[in-house]
Amino acid sequence: MAFLFNSFLEWQEYCQSNDLSLYQSVLEYEIEQRGRNEEDIWEKLAINYHVMTEAVDTGITEPMSSKSGMINDGGKKVFNNPLTVLSPEFQKLISRSLAAKEVNSCMGRVVAAPTAGASGILPGTMSTLQEIHNIEERKILEGLLLAAGVALIIEKRASLAGAVGGCQAETGSAAAMASAAIVYCLGGSTEQIFNAVAITIQCMLGLVCDPVAGLVEVPCVVRNASAAAIANSSAQIALSDVSGVIPVDECIDAMGEIGESMESRYKETAEGGLAATKTGRAIAKKVLIHDIEILPDNSVSRLSDDTTG
Ligand code: SF4
Repeated sequence: MAFLFNSFLEWQEYCQSNDLSLYQSVLEYEIEQRGRNEEDIWEKLAINYHVMTEAVDTGITEPMSSKSGMINDGGKKVFNNPLTVLSPEFQKLISRSLAAKEVNSCMGRVVAAPTAGASGILPGTMSTLQEIHNIEERKILEGLLLAAGVALIIEKRASLAGAVGGCQAETGSAAAMASAAIVYCLGGSTEQIFNAVAITIQCMLGLVCDPVAGLVEVPCVVRNASAAAIANSSAQIALSDVSGVIPVDECIDAMGEIGESMESRYKETAEGGLAATKTGRAIAKKVLIHDIEILPDNSVSRLSDDTTG
């Protein structure tokens, strides 16, 4: 796969010398290197954004429970809680991020941005941002395109996969994408956008991938909410010109280095961390027994179908 740029620095220099904004260079890349036409790109972006907002609505309004029993209407409960910790907006951000991710855990339709495990972060963040600031959809779509550019560079220099770099690579990258999109939509400069990415990555570094029973439910769902909160705090910091000090490319490299040194039990194998706790193992056993109980029936029916057919 061809990548957009090797570094954020290259990306910035290219945009400066060609008088392009960051999102326009991603658009150019999609058109020239991937053979797509502009109209089609905007159309697909709009479709994807609507899938994101639908996932938020579905998670808030419809029953959300997973077969393992670990997901039980978390987004809805947070959304409807009369007790507000910070502000109604913050409550919406958290509940929407949980809700969209719960839709994924319950096998509903989501946009993997950049992965299914992190599919609640951009929906929760962008829908809340749009509502609070009354942002036009076109601007949100530009932010999503810019976020895609962020992901392409992270993929090139580190990884976007929990199985390769731990959860920092999945929810960390999604939070970095969201943070960049927030700063862009609120009129931030390229420096502020890249600083937001750097600060977000700094806050997510070292996070391991340890899904209980190997299911993308616990801790994945709550990590989507915390990553959305970090995306927003980083954007607020960056928009105030508080420097992350370590340049964004070096932060991504640190993520890659940490991911490489992580033991395999922390990379989606469900052998370490929360998955290896007493309760985590008990849930895994229960899920396995449940699966075994289902399997023989299915295979018998499939075999008999074959013989009668
Ligand atoms: S814990 Fe692993 S599976 Fe879950 S969201 Fe993080 S990277 Fe994905």
